[in-house]
Amino acid sequence: MIEFNRVSKRYPGGREALLDINFKVEAGEMLFLTGHSGAGKSTLLKMIPLIERPSGGEIIVDGRALNKYKRRQVPQLRRDIGIIFQDSKLLADRNVFDNVALPLLVSGDNHPRDVGRRVRAALDKVGLLKREHDFPIQLSGGEQQRVGIARAVVNRPKVLLADEPTGNLDPELSREIMSLFEQFNQVGVTVLVASHDLELISSMRKRMLILRGGRLLADERGAM
Ligand code: ADP
Repeated sequence: MIEFNRVSKRYPGGREALLDINFKVEAGEMLFLTGHSGAGKSTLLKMIPLIERPSGGEIIVDGRALNKYKRRQVPQLRRDIGIIFQDSKLLADRNVFDNVALPLLVSGDNHPRDVGRRVRAALDKVGLLKREHDFPIQLSGGEQQRVGIARAVVNRPKVLLADEPTGNLDPELSREIMSLFEQFNQVGVTVLVASHDLELISSMRKRMLILRGGRLLADERGAM
């Protein structure tokens, strides 16, 4: 589903943020990306939906090399990829329903009846069906993050990427969010989560890619 071949990334004026990164993620896998702050986790994730382009090497997502995508085709790639950030990036002036509906409205090819059905299905999966009329400010941090997850899955993406999704949450809420990701993985979604919280992700017993200073230090298979 995701393949990195000798990928490197240098930001304009900066040093190498990533160097010679090689790994392969099979469809339906769930794994973690870890390393200290500045190790390159965000940069690596951002290259998968083409938020950033690599400076060298090749990335293949769902069988297609990313350097083959023209700018106007990028939305097509992003429809298949759900992204979750540390702060849920909800729109404060829209209610929960409208925030989750946003990706469907952007892609524009959904009948209003389908939008309602899919938004409620996504909210149901994250346990927030009853909060559709609330505004983000009325929700706790954990609930806001769950709305962010509902928004990321409303298009039924093949791949779910999360960048420090539990960075602002206490340990118990963090485990809840991780088990939500596990549930999406169990129905076939490929899930890649970046987190520096080694204790939390070790407890998940999944594969771990460990970055240090832009290099892939280890690719550890989780104990079953
Ligand atoms: P992490 O997510 O592991 O904290 P990042 O991918 O954010 O790491 O950063 C990796 C390196 O790239 C750091 O040295 C960081 O300063 C640099 N970097 C990240 N984003 C940019 C950018 N937009 N422009 C220049 N340098 C950047």
